[in-house]
Amino acid sequence: MGQNDRRARSGGWGLRAEPRFRERAPGRHRRRRRAGRHGVAAQRQAHRPRPARHEKTIGDVRVVLLTHHHVDHIGNVADIRRRSGARVIAHAADAPVITGAITGEPPKGLARFAVRLIGTPEPTKLDQLITGDETSPVPGFTALHTPGHTRGHVSYLLERDGGILFAGDTAGHGRDGRVTLGPTQVSADPTEQSRSIAKLATHDFEHAVFGHGQALTGRAVDRFREYAGQHAPGDPAPGDPAPGDPAPGDGVSDPGA
Ligand SMILES: [Zn+2]
Ligand SMILES: [Zn+2]
Repeated sequence: MGQNDRRARSGGWGLRAEPRFRERAPGRHRRRRRAGRHGVAAQRQAHRPRPARHEKTIGDVRVVLLTHHHVDHIGNVADIRRRSGARVIAHAADAPVITGAITGEPPKGLARFAVRLIGTPEPTKLDQLITGDETSPVPGFTALHTPGHTRGHVSYLLERDGGILFAGDTAGHGRDGRVTLGPTQVSADPTEQSRSIAKLATHDFEHAVFGHGQALTGRAVDRFREYAGQHAPGDPAPGDPAPGDPAPGDGVSDPGA
C-alpha cells in the first residue's frame, strides 16, 4: 500500500493531503479524485465533533489476558467482558476463583482490610484456559506459566520492540532498578515465585512492566538474570519490598495454597 492510498483512505487527513495530490503527475488522476471526495466529506463534517482516530472504545477490546485471580487484577473483568464481548483468558489453576466456583481464602494481615474496602469481584465466565506455556493465546503473545504468587499466575511476553514482558505480580521493580519478588504478603508460595523469576530470565526481552511499580526499560532481562544469579533455586529471597508493597487489595490467597 502506497503513502497516497493511506492518505486517501483517511477521511480526517483528506483536506491536508489534497494539495499534495494536485502536484502529482497526470497519471495519478484516479487517486486525486478519491482524495478529493474524502476532502469534501471532511469539510461537511467539520462542524461535528468526532472522536479522534486514535481514540478507542470499549468495543475495541477483543481479548483480556489475565495474569492471576487477585481482586486488584480481575476486579472489573466481568463488566468489561459483558460490555465489550471480549474473550477472557486465564490459567486453569486460577480459573475456579475467577469464575466463582470456589472462594479464595481470605487474605492475612493488613491485606484483608484492603480487600474489605475493595470488595469481592463479580465472577465471570472464561473463554479460554491456559494450562502451560503457550504460544499465541493472542497473536504476538507467548503465555508463560509463572506459579508462586498464585498457582495459576501467567506472565505474557509480547514480541514487539525487542520483547515486552508483562510480569504481573511475579516480579517487581525494586531499589536501584533491581528486580525483586512481587508482593509476597499474599503469595501462595514465594519460593516457587522466585523460581518463576529465574524462568523468565531464560527468555529475552527489552522491557518489563509489573502489576505494581514502575516499568523497566532497556535490557530489562539483564535485571532478571541478575536476580536469578543471586538467588539459588529454592531460595525465597525476600529482597526489597516492591513499590506499592503491600499491594492494595492484593489479598485473595491461592485456593488450597
Ligand atoms: Zn497478586
Ligand atoms: Zn497485584
